[in-house]
Amino acid sequence: MRHFPIFLDLNGRRALVVGSGEAAERKAAGLREAGALVRTEPRYAPDLLDSVAIAIGAEAPEEDLAALFRDASGLGIPVNVVDRPELCSYITPAVVDREPITVAVSSGGDAPVLARLIRARIEAAVPPAFARLGAIAAEFKDRLRRRFPDTAARRRVLDAVLSGPVADLVFAGEETAARVAFADAIEGATSPPGIVHLVGAGPGAPDLLTLRAHRLLGEADVIVHDRLVTDAVLEMARRDATRIYVGKARDNHCLKQHEINALLVRLASEGKKVVRLKGGDPLVFGRGGEEAEALAEAGVAFEIVPGVTAALACAAGAGIPLTHRDASRTVTFVTGHTKDGVLDLDWAALAKSGTLAVYMGVASLPRLFDGLVGAGFAPDTPAALIERGGTDRQRVLVHPFDRMTAEAPGWTTDGPALLLLGEVVAHRVGDLTESAGIADVA
Ligand code: SAH
Repeated sequence: MRHFPIFLDLNGRRALVVGSGEAAERKAAGLREAGALVRTEPRYAPDLLDSVAIAIGAEAPEEDLAALFRDASGLGIPVNVVDRPELCSYITPAVVDREPITVAVSSGGDAPVLARLIRARIEAAVPPAFARLGAIAAEFKDRLRRRFPDTAARRRVLDAVLSGPVADLVFAGEETAARVAFADAIEGATSPPGIVHLVGAGPGAPDLLTLRAHRLLGEADVIVHDRLVTDAVLEMARRDATRIYVGKARDNHCLKQHEINALLVRLASEGKKVVRLKGGDPLVFGRGGEEAEALAEAGVAFEIVPGVTAALACAAGAGIPLTHRDASRTVTFVTGHTKDGVLDLDWAALAKSGTLAVYMGVASLPRLFDGLVGAGFAPDTPAALIERGGTDRQRVLVHPFDRMTAEAPGWTTDGPALLLLGEVVAHRVGDLTESAGIADVA
């Protein structure tokens, strides 16, 4: 081991960045993220090193960088000149930031590419779309070489293009747009386009996110989320991403739907990579369709990433099969959400279907009961109410439907709850004692 790895506490300490341009800015931003008091100067002067805890050089005149290294080393101040190993007393690792965990990977400066590869593996499983991205990059190889004969410059351009919006477009299946963006990026003609990912956050446990959702959370500039998205899921996001809460408790809309649509369009047209994060699946009672329509209408690139919807998470969490050869061959997802106090559903059809998974049904349970039973549904049909399904705070209540209707209001707390109705509930498996308020299943 040639270098001794440490994590430096720079909180409240002075840091000096000598140089101008993007690399210097990036370094300064990284230092600030760690709480350092950063001073940035285009040129070096010896007095700048006064009570400094760390020094970085980037894109400054050669004599300044050499002097910075010489003086800082003499004073015992850790110093790093970007891309100049001979002017470094320490090296910067490739970092995976998952607060509070930080993973740093280093090849001792010998093989930074290898270190970055390992980091990528740690960050997430590599999406298969990388292969398509590589193929598109190959198409542009000659053009890129002509425009940037210098290897380092070419690598920088490729780096930005392959890790930015072009990759997003490829991953979203928009290969034509990706080629246009690739060509534009090479010509430097336009700034890269923004994109919105409509992402399902699943029921709340972070390990029930898809790998794609997980990756996008780590890459997004902005995350627009609503009430059902748990803190545990939001913690998966890039730490410096902007988070915008757009609310939606029942009857207490924080932003109106058309305002959310407009917000998404605006952010994307500013060139941002936006993750619109919704509980469960974005297309199941989540208005994801409306948002997708608005984006399509505005000509904004978007992608929909499915999530584990509440019915699936609750069924799995409570050990209730949604279909069963002896009990039910259909599952119906239905909303108990009322409009102006009215629950307008096709009762006859619902009463005849197999398993019912009722979203947003607790407040309207009596209306649901009257409607279904009025259409011939058995009042003692087995029912399960699952609160915060698929999270470590899950609770389950099992009763016949009539008794459930009486008991549920007093049992629920403030978490989201889903009602499963049907003979399948009688096929529940697992440790019943784990759940609160278990009653006999008819
Ligand atoms: N798009 C979401 C549903 C949004 S509607 C999805 O696919 O799951 C909101 C309703 O979903 C809640 O009223 C509740 O009925 C249900 N729900 C969402 N998350 C839940 C959870 N973790 N446990 C139980 N029900 C949940």
